Amino acid sequence: MKKLLRIFSFASPLHANIPLYIAFTLLGIVFSVANFAMIMPLLDVLFNQLDAERIQTLSAKPEFTITLDFLINYFNYHFINIILTEGKIQALLFICLILISSVLITNFFRYLAAIISAKIRLKILRNIRLEIFKNISGMHMGFFSNKKRGDIISRITNDVNEIELTVLHTLRSLTKEPITILVFFGVLFMISFKLTLITLIILPLTGGVIGEVVRRLKKRAVESQESVGRVVNIVDETLAGIRVIKAFNALNYIRGKFQKEVDYHQRVNMSIAYKNELGSPMSEFLGVLIISGILFYGGSMVLNGPSDSLTASEFIAYIAIYSQILNPSKAFARGISDIQKGLASADRIFSFVDIKSEIQDVANPKIISTFEKSIQFIDVNFSYQKEDVLKKMNLTIEKGKTLALVGPSGGGKSTIADLTSRFYDPDEGSITIDGIPVKDCSLESLRSLMGIVTQESILFHDTLFNNIAFGIEGATQEDVEHAAKVANAHDFIKELDKGYETVIGDRGTKLSGGQRQRISIARAVLKNPPILILDEATSALDSESEKLVQDALKNVLKNRTSLVIAHRLSTIQNADEIIVIDKGMIIEKGTHQELLSHEGLYKKLSSIQKTV
Ligand code: ADP
Repeated sequence: MKKLLRIFSFASPLHANIPLYIAFTLLGIVFSVANFAMIMPLLDVLFNQLDAERIQTLSAKPEFTITLDFLINYFNYHFINIILTEGKIQALLFICLILISSVLITNFFRYLAAIISAKIRLKILRNIRLEIFKNISGMHMGFFSNKKRGDIISRITNDVNEIELTVLHTLRSLTKEPITILVFFGVLFMISFKLTLITLIILPLTGGVIGEVVRRLKKRAVESQESVGRVVNIVDETLAGIRVIKAFNALNYIRGKFQKEVDYHQRVNMSIAYKNELGSPMSEFLGVLIISGILFYGGSMVLNGPSDSLTASEFIAYIAIYSQILNPSKAFARGISDIQKGLASADRIFSFVDIKSEIQDVANPKIISTFEKSIQFIDVNFSYQKEDVLKKMNLTIEKGKTLALVGPSGGGKSTIADLTSRFYDPDEGSITIDGIPVKDCSLESLRSLMGIVTQESILFHDTLFNNIAFGIEGATQEDVEHAAKVANAHDFIKELDKGYETVIGDRGTKLSGGQRQRISIARAVLKNPPILILDEATSALDSESEKLVQDALKNVLKNRTSLVIAHRLSTIQNADEIIVIDKGMIIEKGTHQELLSHEGLYKKLSSIQKTV
């Protein structure tokens, strides 16, 4: 119940509409009962059931009271008077007119209720999606390496859709169906107390059997959802890695993997279908069993004559109204179990809404707007899982200087870059910027001081303009072009059909590696941060692109503080300080010349690269 209330709290402020939904639903139901009640006078007229005595009692004008009795008597009074003064055909017309207006009103209220229900549902979907997206995009980096993207995508799409159904079922099962059942039963009791009492005893049996079938479906439904998550994962991985898949001739492998998962999904859903599809024929059969029981019992009451006080027209109206209760009772049982299924999705969704990022601002964080002196790592220890990736790391990035990190891969260089921009927090030790621990600074102000260009240039499916102006509001065409010029990107962008308005494909696949890299650099130039972090920004390029990118970087690095991670040593010869890192520790440091002057790892790496 708590979970349901939580789902509905996402409809805020629309949840105030729920009483309105109930009111419209109730009105719709009341008028639809009236439609069926019209059967009685209709049959009475058609089959000449009105004897003189009944006409006598019904033709007296009733005293006005606010009761259902008054309404019925008032209708009868009018009805009889029309028969007496204008004849039966006119009376028939009168019933038809009442029927038309009553059906019109019923459907009008139904429509209003459905619109309110849709409003509530869509508001909930919107708010949940916004909340999950906001929360997930703000999560710490570790979250993304532990979670598969397919899982996340599946929750935002499938699970949220499931919630929509839950809301629909909840509104129906907890309001509409019970109200319908209560109102219809009220009328049945008015028609025949004895007959209704008996039907009341049999009805729960049908509901119970159907409920049980649905309950058994639940576990498999969870399996089905999880399997969808895995299917999405494979598609996602395939799209992201299509180049590698093709290059390694792994199409058959990946197709096989996909087929295995889709086959599993088919099997699970088929076994759900076996039970699911059984529900309808079985309930129909049980329904007919009950109706036959009522037909037999009620029919004998009619045949026994006035002592059992059920006229033929009342009985037929009774059966018609009763048949209208079967569907809501089935829907009620099914709805309750669908709600349970939806609540499983709600659990998965709320776990994403409630999860807290491990990297967050402290209370009252310091806003740093300038970078004056240095960034320092002081005795920093860090591990992703168990193994230490950085051990007692001490280093200083001075303002205006370029610090280069080199060394064998897996040594911890990218980790240092990630810690600098606080994608992770150290396990021990501290990182300070101008003497202030970065933990105490607001994340936004810290990151606004830094620009990052990574080896894999991350571009978005958008225009080149927007890719360069990414995250910068109000950038003008002039600003963007200037940044592109600095990054040596302007010339090739101009050559494209639509220039800066060219939309690049997913992850920028319409561009070459070097072009993508230069867009990433232009993005960093436009942001114009005091501190620049270049993580293997040139290592993926061929030598011609590299030259262009190198020149671009030279422009960018002028008068700027930078942390450069480089695989190719030739690219960092001019750095103010070079630090050689191996297995999480600094093993050498100095300028290019200093490092070459003694026999260390740097010299070794340098000579290997020269011979390559
Ligand atoms: P480098 O940049 O010097 O190649 P990294 O900083 O990328 O090295 O990696 C250092 C070590 O940390 C490696 O052993 C790597 O496997 C591990 N590592 C890097 N990122 C993660 C991560 N997200 N989760 C777990 N281990 C990681």
